[in-house]
Amino acid sequence: MSDPEIPESHPRYESLLTRHRIEDGVEKGITSQQGLIAQGRGEAFDYLLGEETIPSADEAARAAAAELLLAEHPVLSVNGNVAALVPGEIVELAETTGADIEVNLFNRTPERIEAIADQLREHGATEVKGLTADERIPGLDHERAKVDADGIYAADVVLVPLEDGDRAAALAEMGKTEIVVDLNPLSRSAKAADVPIVDNVIRAVPKMTEHARELQDASTAELESIVEAFDPEAALASAERQIRDGSPE
Ligand code: ATP
Repeated sequence: MSDPEIPESHPRYESLLTRHRIEDGVEKGITSQQGLIAQGRGEAFDYLLGEETIPSADEAARAAAAELLLAEHPVLSVNGNVAALVPGEIVELAETTGADIEVNLFNRTPERIEAIADQLREHGATEVKGLTADERIPGLDHERAKVDADGIYAADVVLVPLEDGDRAAALAEMGKTEIVVDLNPLSRSAKAADVPIVDNVIRAVPKMTEHARELQDASTAELESIVEAFDPEAALASAERQIRDGSPE
């Protein structure tokens, strides 16, 4: 995706690019107004993290790639912010790991679901799930619980970038291995995750793909040992130290 009006030499290029993509997402009916608020909250944490991938987030992205490669049925959940920020990168990650893509929205309207599915198709997705919505995640109210029976409902590993805390907890309750991307290490979603990646989705999704490519030929035992060595609580604690003290140690 190129956004020619922002010069790459600008010191806050990535931040401006992110805002521009979110604004564009709202204009196209992909991102909700609440999505703008979530973006603002994320930016504040990103600023405190130094707007870069900290070492514990890179380790988490590697563990996430190993989980996706080990999975029987991995699914990448896409909401309005993710569709606006990293549509092509999500398609690439899905192709690299053999995962399905499912649109899953907090503010679900048929128009937004269609707009997001179109955006993903424009970026190369061949199949987009989430339009059937023929199953429900137990423990959530009707609209927020809707998922595809052969998608998130049946998945063993789910990537839920920028998920709200309730849904992240309900998916964990279903016994799914959950990978969360969230810039706030204190959020309920990050805490509910088996693999919390405290990083901007703009950096985290390509990082996961990079790791998945590197691990493509790794044995099951090697992938399992990467997953076992990863400690979610230590990763969250390291991100919190980075934010509070400016250092991960
Ligand atoms: P909780 O998980 O504690 O319930 P919440 O549901 O209140 O949090 P929202 O207000 O929906 O969370 O905010 C969405 C979350 O997504 C915030 O924690 C924010 O830091 C994070 N976020 C926003 N933009 C990005 C981004 N580009 N990359 C990664 N995380 C982001």
